[in-house]
Amino acid sequence: MTSKRSLNENDIARLQELLKGTEAKLVTPKEEEAYTTSIRRWSRAAEKPAGACLIPKSNEAVSITLKYASQNNLDIAVKGGGHSTAGASSTDGGLLIDLNTHMRTTDVNAENQTIRVGGGALWGDVDAALAPHGLAAVGGTVADTGVGGLTLGGGFGWLSVKHGLVADNLLECTVVLADGRIVTSSASENEDLLWGLRGAGQNFGIVTEFVFRAHKQGDMWAGFMVFPPTPEVISKAVEAVNSIFTPDADGKTKAIGKAGSGIGFVKPPPAGGQTMFFVASVFDGPEDAGKELFKDVLALEPAMSTMAMVKYENANKLMQPPIGARVSLKGSSFELPIRPDFVMSILEAYTKFTDEVADAAGTQIMFELLDPTKIIEVPNSDMAFANRGRHFNAAIVPLWWDKANDAVCRQWSRDVALLFKAELERDGAATGGSGDGWIGKRGEHGATMVYGNYDQYEERSKDVFGANYERLQELKAKYDPTNLFNKLFAIIPKA
Ligand SMILES: Cc1cc2nc3c(=O)[nH]c(=O)nc-3n(C[C@H](O)[C@H](O)[C@H](O)COP(=O)(O)OP(=O)(O)OC[C@H]3O[C@@H](n4cnc5c(N)ncnc54)[C@H](O)[C@@H]3O)c2cc1C
Repeated sequence: MTSKRSLNENDIARLQELLKGTEAKLVTPKEEEAYTTSIRRWSRAAEKPAGACLIPKSNEAVSITLKYASQNNLDIAVKGGGHSTAGASSTDGGLLIDLNTHMRTTDVNAENQTIRVGGGALWGDVDAALAPHGLAAVGGTVADTGVGGLTLGGGFGWLSVKHGLVADNLLECTVVLADGRIVTSSASENEDLLWGLRGAGQNFGIVTEFVFRAHKQGDMWAGFMVFPPTPEVISKAVEAVNSIFTPDADGKTKAIGKAGSGIGFVKPPPAGGQTMFFVASVFDGPEDAGKELFKDVLALEPAMSTMAMVKYENANKLMQPPIGARVSLKGSSFELPIRPDFVMSILEAYTKFTDEVADAAGTQIMFELLDPTKIIEVPNSDMAFANRGRHFNAAIVPLWWDKANDAVCRQWSRDVALLFKAELERDGAATGGSGDGWIGKRGEHGATMVYGNYDQYEERSKDVFGANYERLQELKAKYDPTNLFNKLFAIIPKA
């Protein structure tokens, strides 16, 4: 495969000619405001100077552009919500296709309980459109994250405990392929493509529209409890969450279908303050029942608590990191029971780092606990997403402002991920695998133990897709044989 090239003046002129009458804009660095908005990323460290940015309003404009890019071997990047911290939606000198500026419409069908969503929408757009109908879709836990990347990589959210992954609730996609064809992919049309889009979706085309199943949704008991990080508090809180999320002899957890949580460390503003331990909880039901489930955490008497009955869309606004920072997201996996001593070792790593690098005081670490009972009802071979098991995601999120700290912050997140890896192997919990993944071993049902949407740096496609990789190679040969879509876990097409 020939390597892709940057955009030149001639390409810009020819594209502008081809796009006449489509209402699309092709902006260059000269049109500073629009260009800056298009290349803007949630993490400033993920921004790159594109040669030009297409701002389309229609499938037709996307189609013309992709056809031209394929024929001329251009490097392209696709921006959905712009939350990839690894630069997977950015290009240095290539052509950026920015769906986020105009392609974020929502269209609710309340009767069928579905929603049609533009490829550049944010989860906040989806929440706001569904809420007036008493409906909600399974989406990310942070409202300003993009629908596109999150869905195409699998997607976990608070409602996953009830309705599975975001990809499990994806019914249909409108996709513009590398050669410019516009196709529908659903259970009855191009169903092989839907299999691939659900987990490896950045590989096959630009999804300009998603259709999701929506669900009736009431208010939730949700918020944060914050504690001083003493060994006693950590030990008791960890014991409490272990007991809530560990299955009994019948495979049932106390959280089943109801609760998600997250424990971790943060230094609340003002910057430079004390490290605090937090327990975030989102309970789908009335306050009394939520309080009963989390009673052992509440008994620890948080120094601060925001727990209250909230609308679902507000549960997705609990965690709103600051805008304009440099941020890296590194994932890891862990299993229950969490060992309090392990959490203490993470506290030590967190405190040492944030004390030494004062610029990174906004850093967070979270052990995410979303009851996986519903998620693991679906086998790992049912779609490209290959990471279902009774394990959980951890998010290591250094946040800093000075470019000079890029390397030290990223390295620290890798070092902490290695602590999680060692803990997983210490447990002997991940077993029965082929031994060629990042974790080194596979989890139950062949789960890769790598969540690609959290791990977008040095992980390889095979680590993320595991046993599904070969089938993905066949799909890649069929739908994107020249590897136009190559920015995130690119699959080598089958020869
Ligand atoms: C603050 C924050 C909170 C997060 N919370 C969650 C969470 O709750 N659950 C979870 O599962 N993950 C979460 N993530 C991880 C998230 O899933 C990934 O960062 C994901 O890549 C974001 O998608 P995006 O569209 O915003 O990103 P972008 O940077 O726009 O895109 C990421 C990748 O997807 C591709 N892409 C995006 N849209 C399309 C499209 N329409 N068609 C084709 N390709 C497309 C891009 O080309 C790129 O390769 C979170 C990340 C952050 C930074």
